[in-house]
Amino acid sequence: MKSIDDMGDLRGRRVLVRSDLNVPLEGTTVTDDGRIRASVPTVVRLSDAGAKVIVTAHLGRPDGKADPRYSLRPVYERMADLLPGRDVRFAGDTVGAGARRAVETMPDGGVALLENLRFDPRETSKDDAERGAFADELAALADVFVSDGFGVLHRKQASVYDVALRLPHAAGGLVLAEMEAFSKVLDDPERPYVVVLGGSKVSDKLGVIDTLLGKVDRLLVGGGMCFTFLRAQGHEVGGSLLEEDQVDTVLGFIERAAETGVELVLPVDVVVAAEVAEDADTSVVPASRIPADMTGLDVGPETVELFRGKLADARTVVWNGPMGVFELAPFADGTRAIAQAIAEIDGTTVVGGGDSAAAVRQLGVDETAFTHISTGGGASLELLEGRTLPGLAVLED
Ligand code: ADP
Ligand code: MG
Repeated sequence: MKSIDDMGDLRGRRVLVRSDLNVPLEGTTVTDDGRIRASVPTVVRLSDAGAKVIVTAHLGRPDGKADPRYSLRPVYERMADLLPGRDVRFAGDTVGAGARRAVETMPDGGVALLENLRFDPRETSKDDAERGAFADELAALADVFVSDGFGVLHRKQASVYDVALRLPHAAGGLVLAEMEAFSKVLDDPERPYVVVLGGSKVSDKLGVIDTLLGKVDRLLVGGGMCFTFLRAQGHEVGGSLLEEDQVDTVLGFIERAAETGVELVLPVDVVVAAEVAEDADTSVVPASRIPADMTGLDVGPETVELFRGKLADARTVVWNGPMGVFELAPFADGTRAIAQAIAEIDGTTVVGGGDSAAAVRQLGVDETAFTHISTGGGASLELLEGRTLPGLAVLED
């Protein structure tokens, strides 16, 4: 796989960079700029080399048509702030007249952000020819392609995959850094190797659980997905998140863990409330006794202690998925405490998942205490599953 160093002199060359700038927005305010900040070093590097840097990215799911709610303009504003002293522009469209004009008029070392790729339905089309036609238009804007959107590498999409078939290409610094961090976990991790999973949907993470059961020493499960596990153990979960159709699969995981000696650790107590609200009245109940009219929204203090103990001697930790609804103060303690416990570990610690990374920042845990905070959720899970990422495979040749 080539890096930017292998691309020769880039002065005056048009470099199309696929970044992952899919950040959470409230109205037009970026509420977590982690992915924007992570994308900046590659842009700076290319700009310093005198390239014309054309950044392309998606935001949300605008359904294949221009929709001002999903405009990348707020991202552009933040990006421009992070690139002081450089000529940074926003093209009003993705591959149209605005994009062409921005590219034609930009100076060497300039940066242009194109509008949301997903305003064009061809970006995510399952039809190779449709995607190819869009990739042709993207490729026509540039001389070379740098793939730096780690969080989208698992997508076989025009700007990730097809465009790399059409231009000389390299992996950007973020993609290389992410791959290096994950290689420490994937190839022969130091043990004990502990994975902490949480987040909302167990169905998103079935594949990774299946693979991890063959690799880890301990698997700690919290967040919304733990209730499907508790249900599989025969407990009632009240109004908590439950994926009834996954109960059998999860029961299979519990049995397999017991057979293979993997410690599968579930919450022993749960923070419950009658409503999901900033001012909700909460109480802590045993995980086996969740009242029918209550919803489990965080792991309880005994669970925090239990998980801490299971993490204390770990040499490799991967964490994906918040332990509770950390966005609301009454349900943030479990996530904060587990993040803190992982941060304190002397070993390799990798955080994956957009919400988990946002939680680290929002809850005031020291970001630098982790070996790596990944910008990718789905992509990191697919790596952990041992799958080949299309956006990575295409860079190999
Ligand atoms: P990541 O982006 O880190 O991979 P997910 O997207 O899987 O994580 O899940 C994040 C979401 O899970 C958060 O918005 C959080 O509020 C939610 N969540 C965590 N615990 C619960 C719970 N007990 N009930 C409902 N939602 C939960
Ligand atoms: Mg998420």
